[in-house]
Amino acid sequence: MYIVMASAECAPVAKAGGLGDFVHGLARELMQAGHRVEVLLPKYDCLRLEAIEGLEKDYSDLWVPFYDKGYLCDLYHGRVDGIDSWFIDPHSPQEFFNRGVIHGEPDDVDRFTLYARAVLEFLHQSGRHPDVIHCNDWHTGLVPVLLYEIYQVQGLDQTRVCYTLHNLGHQGWTGEYILHQAGLDAPRLMTQDRLRDPGNPHTVNLMKGGIVYSNYVTTVSPRYAWEIQSTEQGMGLQETLRRHGHKFCGVLNGIDFDVWNPLTDNRIPYAYGPESLPDKARNKQVLRQRLGLVEASKPLIAVVSRLDAQKGVELIRHAILYGLERGAQTVLLGSAQDPMLEAYFRVLQRETDANPDCHLELGYDEDLAHLIYAAADIMVIPSVYEPCGLTQMIAMRYGVVPLVRGVGGLADTVFDANHSDKPFEARNGYVFDELTTEALASALDRALGLWFDYPEYFRQLRLNGMAMDNSWARPARLYLDIFEKIRVKTPNIPS
Ligand code: ADP
Repeated sequence: MYIVMASAECAPVAKAGGLGDFVHGLARELMQAGHRVEVLLPKYDCLRLEAIEGLEKDYSDLWVPFYDKGYLCDLYHGRVDGIDSWFIDPHSPQEFFNRGVIHGEPDDVDRFTLYARAVLEFLHQSGRHPDVIHCNDWHTGLVPVLLYEIYQVQGLDQTRVCYTLHNLGHQGWTGEYILHQAGLDAPRLMTQDRLRDPGNPHTVNLMKGGIVYSNYVTTVSPRYAWEIQSTEQGMGLQETLRRHGHKFCGVLNGIDFDVWNPLTDNRIPYAYGPESLPDKARNKQVLRQRLGLVEASKPLIAVVSRLDAQKGVELIRHAILYGLERGAQTVLLGSAQDPMLEAYFRVLQRETDANPDCHLELGYDEDLAHLIYAAADIMVIPSVYEPCGLTQMIAMRYGVVPLVRGVGGLADTVFDANHSDKPFEARNGYVFDELTTEALASALDRALGLWFDYPEYFRQLRLNGMAMDNSWARPARLYLDIFEKIRVKTPNIPS
């Protein structure tokens, strides 16, 4: 099968979070299964160029209509971990992708609308006819709309779209102008059954466009699929998702078992696996030295997270302070986009600065993240909502016991040591439900109690987590089934 993946992110060249890991992991797995896969990304000035092999300009002067004019784009080609990757570089006076960031700009909607149109223009002008375009999140919501409204009659009539929702917190809400800009018939599309936002008659919802126009829609865990259809986690799109429920399901993400493997990870000083678990403690020593923590017989509680309201910032703060109170060491690696949240954690950093059992590192640091996974005993993930969450899966792979709020993908992957109805060998962490400091503290008490008083059981929990198969093998098979299904059966006008 020939699959094109369109996304704002792909690890490790352009990663801001789990979306980047998703595209990279799935693309590699599909490729290894013998399929032709191409990833199309904007050519950000902040791409990690050293991770691209053989990058060169391969296509010049691609004319991409945009509003009543258009922009010329260059296409660069290279390989990222063997994945065929294309990078779109528009000559736009706004310097759309030369901002030093992947997303989070005030004109993101314009940036990614141009990108969406350029993806289709490139496929069309270069004579490509993929079986499936796999689109991701609101940034690419217009791709299926443009395909079926404009490019189908121009020859892209055998291509189908699978659209994956990674986070309903960002839907690409914008004004009607964007449809004119993309070359679409705004009055016809601004209806309740197409792109009009369910909550606001004057707002265009790009994610809704992706849902309505795609041949199949997935999200990143079965629990989140239920939550966004049935609870306010759908953030206004519940009804749309229910209406399109016949072509919607949750597929639990995997993690790249080659990248995240404590036996082969060259970013950690001491390799270890289930048979050599004591070597994990040596990484803990290295982390303590690096972060200036004292050497002591204490459990290490860690948080590795974007610092965003979604991640439960008050509970993260509470876990750090409560953990210290209960005799643990605590480490946070967190990156905040919102200056208020950055300030919130700077205050906490000052409060805990003198404490030899605590270190807060504010920023994004891939190497340090690996070392923390290798060193930690407990990983706290108290999310308000969590579509899938990769952190808990990575943690388990590194023998870290996750302590999570039971929402979305966290509930699908972490099974409570005391309360799960699964057999003991399938229990792998701690789960709490209420979004309160008391609920978090009670779960933390249980986890720390086990670490201090029953180390042999704690070790078994680590091993249970390490034995879980959260690789991409199964989800990639499920995606291939979906691609096969839409390729063969779905009529080409979806809505
Ligand atoms: P999200 O996509 O919502 O950020 P996920 O749990 O799906 O959350 O994925 C988070 C990914 O980003 C994991 O690979 C995690 O290790 C990584 N990560 C998060 N914050 C940081 C950080 N500050 N530095 C390095 N890696 C981080």
